[in-house]
Amino acid sequence: MAPTPKQYDYIVIGGGSGGSGAARRASGWYGAKTLIIENGRSGGCCVNVGCVPKKMTWNMASINEALHAAKSYSYSVPLEDVKMDFRSFKKGRDASILRLNGAYERNWEREGIELIHGTAHFTSPHEIVVKLQDSGEEVAYTAPHICIATGSYPIVPDDVEGAEHAITSDGFFDIECLPQKIAVCGAGYIAVELAGVMNALGVEVHMFIRGETFLRNFDSMIQQTMTKRYEDVGVVIHKNHPGFAKVERIDDEKVHKESMAQGLGRETCCDGPCEGKKLRLTTKGPEGTAYEFDELLWAVGRAPEVKDLQVQNAGVEQTQKGYIKVDDFQNTTVEGVYALGDVTGQVQLTPVAIAAGRQLGNRLFGPPELKNSKLEYHNIPSVVFSHPEVGTVGLTELQAVEKFGKDNIKTYHSKFTAMYYDLFSPEEKAKNPTEYKLVCAGPEEKVVGLHILGLNTGEMLQGFGVAVKMGATKKDFDSCVAIHPTSAEELVTMK
Ligand code: NDP
Repeated sequence: MAPTPKQYDYIVIGGGSGGSGAARRASGWYGAKTLIIENGRSGGCCVNVGCVPKKMTWNMASINEALHAAKSYSYSVPLEDVKMDFRSFKKGRDASILRLNGAYERNWEREGIELIHGTAHFTSPHEIVVKLQDSGEEVAYTAPHICIATGSYPIVPDDVEGAEHAITSDGFFDIECLPQKIAVCGAGYIAVELAGVMNALGVEVHMFIRGETFLRNFDSMIQQTMTKRYEDVGVVIHKNHPGFAKVERIDDEKVHKESMAQGLGRETCCDGPCEGKKLRLTTKGPEGTAYEFDELLWAVGRAPEVKDLQVQNAGVEQTQKGYIKVDDFQNTTVEGVYALGDVTGQVQLTPVAIAAGRQLGNRLFGPPELKNSKLEYHNIPSVVFSHPEVGTVGLTELQAVEKFGKDNIKTYHSKFTAMYYDLFSPEEKAKNPTEYKLVCAGPEEKVVGLHILGLNTGEMLQGFGVAVKMGATKKDFDSCVAIHPTSAEELVTMK
């Protein structure tokens, strides 16, 4: 006879941001007996191969930009003497992430959440079997409430021969030694962020994009200004590119791996030579233009992490692209089974997954007044950590026109040079735009979209996000006294 499955109130599959938020609300706040199952490192994508290491690398790149800016402020920084040791930076970044992995696990333990390292699959709507990572043993667990929070993984195109020779954002965070010349294929958040970071660190960056601009889901102002800005600072953008047919490894892979293992590095980012990786990329089409690069980064979107789950055994339905179907309350098509975060294909942002997890915890285990808790998915602020940062909340101008009609929309726009750049040469000033747009609807001019790019956007947007979420009008913005001298003051003085 099979052993009786271990019983919990709540099982959360996936210990990333969303899963952790869901479990901690259920157990830490409401005392539900909760189990997290994780088959990777605690903290998921955000902590290990996403937001956290990305922001640290962005900080490093921003320091490089500041070193270059120092000259304009009359510091005599001999840039030739400034050494950057990427390998040592990576060591520090890895150690910091390891501390975060531990912090996640300690928080779970303190809040009474059990953690199992293994891979789960459904055997029925309320039962899962986990293959334990250390022993390989299969153990069954059951709960009236099971939440799928397994996240997503970066896509590697399946129609490109040799695509596996390149890296995705996961592999980017393994790089010990910066390439001298990199190709980035893609035009979304990850492509723009990582291309920007590498360009600011002195890598020759080529972006291969399908359209005329990148960030095509953003307001046209952001698309146009940021694409031009990247070109102005030296990123080579191959527009309307048909994509690659083939990726070939043209160095000796074995020699490369050995030299990396010995800790050798390029002169550009650390001491000593490095037997570099070399790729030949052949463009689709009859002419088949070939390029040589040290690395290629695929940044063409993410797909739901569902391959091991066998959700069909529970009767959980998926969309055509494999995402788990959910309603407004994170319910899947099966009672007692929920899903949140990237695996649902809803807004793929860490804080969104956390917020959805907390609301679900409130609804399932909280007091009666919270029984209808759910996350509102509109007016979610988001920042692209490009160089400079881009921030957005609400509708683009195009979306607002579609929703309210052209005659009911008024936009306010401002493009200027931030004071930080006043001491730069005219050429450098021209390369560093700050630009803001407010999209307002109706006679009361409710702010339905706010789009900004420039220094410190990431820190600015949160507060304006509150205002937009509260339904602020242009008049409300104007009634707030400006803080001078800042860039942000432009947003409350627009004409
Ligand atoms: P995105 O969905 O943002 O962008 C992928 C882009 O790649 C598409 O918009 C598309 O642009 C382009 N693309 C798709 N297929 C191809 C192809 N075959 N060849 C060339 N280009 C292609 O995905 P990302 O992977 O960049 O990021 C995933 C998600 O992670 C984001 O949507 C975001 O929600 C989240 N994220 C958030 C961050 C933040 O908050 N700062 C940072 C990083 C990720 P086009 O249609 O113009 O060709």
